Amino acid sequence: MAITPLPQSDVVPERPIKILLVEDERALREALADALTSEGFVVTQADTGAVGLAAFRAAPPDLILLDLMLPEMGGIEVCRSIRSSSRVPIIMVTAKASESDRISGLDLGADDYVTKPFSSRELIARIRAVLRRAEADPSPAAQGARLRVGEAEVDLEGQRVLRDGAVVHLKPKAFQLLAFLIENAGRVYTREQLLDKVWGYDYAGETRTVDVHMHALRQAMEAIPAEPVALQTVRGIGYVLRRPA
Ligand code: CA
Repeated sequence: MAITPLPQSDVVPERPIKILLVEDERALREALADALTSEGFVVTQADTGAVGLAAFRAAPPDLILLDLMLPEMGGIEVCRSIRSSSRVPIIMVTAKASESDRISGLDLGADDYVTKPFSSRELIARIRAVLRRAEADPSPAAQGARLRVGEAEVDLEGQRVLRDGAVVHLKPKAFQLLAFLIENAGRVYTREQLLDKVWGYDYAGETRTVDVHMHALRQAMEAIPAEPVALQTVRGIGYVLRRPA
């Protein structure tokens, strides 16, 4: 009898976790890189914000350790730039506790903060905690996944919708509406709330705008647009994206 090898998918090697370390102080950076490497992390070092951003784009890491005070392009700017396209976990490194307070108030989208001086043990514990949270985050955007809505596939990172393998043309606002409903699947929103959330408080449009865009989404995604399965109307209230069963 022949021995059947296990299918490849059953053999999942543990992938090393990649950390991008952006820190201009060379001695600190190298000490951190050593500490992280000895814990089994794969570390890429960057000594400026610009180099860090380039490294992030060239090879997206699993987590970024980002110094706040960097020459030229500061940590705040780097964090904002990364957040415009990615939800990769970011831990900000600050020199003073007062800075942590200040940046946490800015809502930059960093996942955690450490204040210098810190022990490598403390830092590694924070890194593991942030990675665990990111892994547990069920939001589709965090996972960069393609997901099925009705008859279509949604590529959140690429901001496009595919049906039978072909890209469906959608207006940017229709896509933003879809992305919002996906992030909040199962929650019912009124037209007014959707106008606020997707178009913004300053938008002076009518709630019918929401209906028009919902109509376009149903045409794109539902087998029978008049009998929607995913993008449902809640009579007398508004709309909801039903989670797939
Ligand atoms: Ca610095």
